[in-house]
Amino acid sequence: MKQIAGCARIREEIPDILHDESRFESGVPSLVCFPETIEDLQNVLSDAAAHGRGVTFIGAQTGTTGGAVPDEGTCAIAFSAMNRIRTISWEEGKPVLVCDPGVTLDTIERFLDAPATWPYQIPGSEKLAPGAFFYPPDPTEMTAQLGGTVATNASGARSYRFGPTRSHIAWLDLVLADGDTITVRRSREGSASWDRRLTTDRGTILTVPALPFNSPEIKNAAGYFSSATMDAVDLFIGSEGTLAAISGIGIALQPAPTILSGLTFFGSNDDAFNFADFLQKEADVAAIEFFDNGSLRFIDQYRIRLPDKIPEFPKEAKTAILWEYIEDQPGKFETIMERWEEALISCGSSFDATWSGFDDAEKERLHSFRHALPEMVNSIIAENKRSCREIRKIGTDSAFSAAEFRPAYSEMMRMIETSGLVFAAFGHLGDHHIHINLIPSTPEELSAALKLYDELMALALRHGGTVSAEHGIGKIKKKYLRAMYGEEAVAAMCRVRAALDPKGMLNPGNLF
Ligand SMILES: Cc1cc2nc3c(=O)[nH]c(=O)nc-3n(C[C@H](O)[C@H](O)[C@H](O)COP(=O)(O)OP(=O)(O)OC[C@H]3O[C@@H](n4cnc5c(N)ncnc54)[C@H](O)[C@@H]3O)c2cc1C
Repeated sequence: MKQIAGCARIREEIPDILHDESRFESGVPSLVCFPETIEDLQNVLSDAAAHGRGVTFIGAQTGTTGGAVPDEGTCAIAFSAMNRIRTISWEEGKPVLVCDPGVTLDTIERFLDAPATWPYQIPGSEKLAPGAFFYPPDPTEMTAQLGGTVATNASGARSYRFGPTRSHIAWLDLVLADGDTITVRRSREGSASWDRRLTTDRGTILTVPALPFNSPEIKNAAGYFSSATMDAVDLFIGSEGTLAAISGIGIALQPAPTILSGLTFFGSNDDAFNFADFLQKEADVAAIEFFDNGSLRFIDQYRIRLPDKIPEFPKEAKTAILWEYIEDQPGKFETIMERWEEALISCGSSFDATWSGFDDAEKERLHSFRHALPEMVNSIIAENKRSCREIRKIGTDSAFSAAEFRPAYSEMMRMIETSGLVFAAFGHLGDHHIHINLIPSTPEELSAALKLYDELMALALRHGGTVSAEHGIGKIKKKYLRAMYGEEAVAAMCRVRAALDPKGMLNPGNLF
C-alpha cells in the first residue's frame, strides 16, 4: 500500500489533496494512505484508532462542502487505489454490480456500454449485453467515486424519475472505526423494518438509538436519514463518512431506457415553471432541468472557452428547460407531441424553440450544455481566486415542496437582485431544487455573498425547505444543519454516531 508521510512531502507531492471543489482548506494531514484492499483499510483504521488519530476519507474530492478536506495532523485515506469492478451477481435474474469504493461513475458507464471488451475479467459480466443496463444517479461530475456518491447520497437530473443514490444501493460493505467489518443490505420489499441492532463480523452487537424525527419528504441530503420503514443500509447512505468507511458497494442496475431529450427556450421564469408543472403531470418524463437567464448569459459570455461547440441561443430566450422522455416503444413520443406543443404554446414557446436531443450527436450537444455550466462557474471562481485567495463559490442547495417552491424562489430572487451580486441559477426543477450560484470576485463581494447566503438559508427554512438536497453538509454548512433540525435532533444524531464510532475518529469535523 502506498503511503506518504510528513506534511512537507504531502504539500509538495500531492497538494491537491488539501482541498475539494469548495476550495476550502483545513490543514495538512501527517499521513496519507492509499489502501488497495479491505485488509489494508482495516489496518490503517485500527492503527489510527490505536494512536488516537482522526481519519478523513477522500474520494475524488469533487464534493462542494469540504467533506473530504483533511484536518491538520490527521490521517487521510484516499480510495483511488481501491478501484476495481469486482463482479456481477445475478439476484433473482437482476444484475447487481459489485464495486470497490474508488470506482468512478464514468468507469461504470464505460463498462456497461462495452462489458465484453473490459481489460480484466469480471465474473457474471458474460450475461450482460452492451448498453442493456444503466446506473441511474448522474450527479453531473462523472469523475466522482462511487464511495463518495454513496457517502453524500448524490443525485442528478434523472433522480426526478429514478430517485437518488439511495434508491439503487443493494448492499454496502463497511469498515468501522476499530477495523471491524459489517455488511448492511436493503431488505426485500415488504419485509420488516430495521430493528436498530447491527452484528459485526467479529460478533459485536451495536445498538443504534432511534432518531426523534423523520427525514423530510422533499429531496434531502442534510443529516442522517430517518424513517419508520428504513433499512440499516439507509443510515450509512448520506452519512458523509462519519459512521464507517464504505469498502464495497452492490448497486442494483436498471434496464437502460431509450431517452429522447430537448432543450426548450422560454421568455420568462414563469413560462418555464408553467411548462414544468405540465411535465410533472405527464408520464415517462425522466428529467426536468431549469436554466435561468444568468445561466444562458454566462454560457454566451464564455462559450468561446468551451471544448464542445454550443450554438447561439434564440434571441428572445430568457430561460430554458432541458427535459428527458423515456420512449419505451418506438414512435411513442409522436403520440404525445400534439399535447406537448399545445402546452408549449400556452407557455409562450414551441417545438421550434427547442433543440432536440434525439440522435447521438444532438444528445451529446445537450449533454455538453448541461455539463458546461457548473464547470464554467467553478473555473470563473478559480480565476477570481487568483486575485483573492479566499474567494469561493457560494451556492444554494435547497429543495422545497411543490407548494412552497415558487413563493420561496421569487423571494430569493428579489433578495439576490437587490444585492447586485453576479449569479447563475440552474438545476433540478422537477425536484423543486435549483442551485443558485453566487459568484463573488472581490473580498467585499465575498462578505456580501456569505451574509446573503445566511439570509437565503433562513428563508429556505421558513418555507419548509432543506439546507442541502444533494451536496451534503460537510465542514462548511454545519451551522445550517443545526438551524434545520434544532439542537435536540442534532444531539440525537451525535448519539447515533457515538454508538458506531465512540471516539469520533471518522471524518471529524463533518456534519457536527
Ligand atoms: C461540476 C460539478 C457538478 C456537480 N453536480 C452534482 C450534482 O448534480 N449532484 C450531486 O449530488 N453532486 C454534485 N456535485 C458534487 C459531487 O460530485 C458529489 O458530492 C459526489 O458525490 C462526491 O463524490 P467524490 O468521490 O468526489 O467524493 P468526495 O468529495 O471525495 O467526498 C465526499 C464525502 O464522502 C466521503 N467519502 C468519500 N469516499 C468515502 C468512502 N469510501 N467511505 C466513506 N466516506 C467516503 C468524504 O469523506 C466526504 O465526506 C458536483 C460537483 C462538481 C464539481
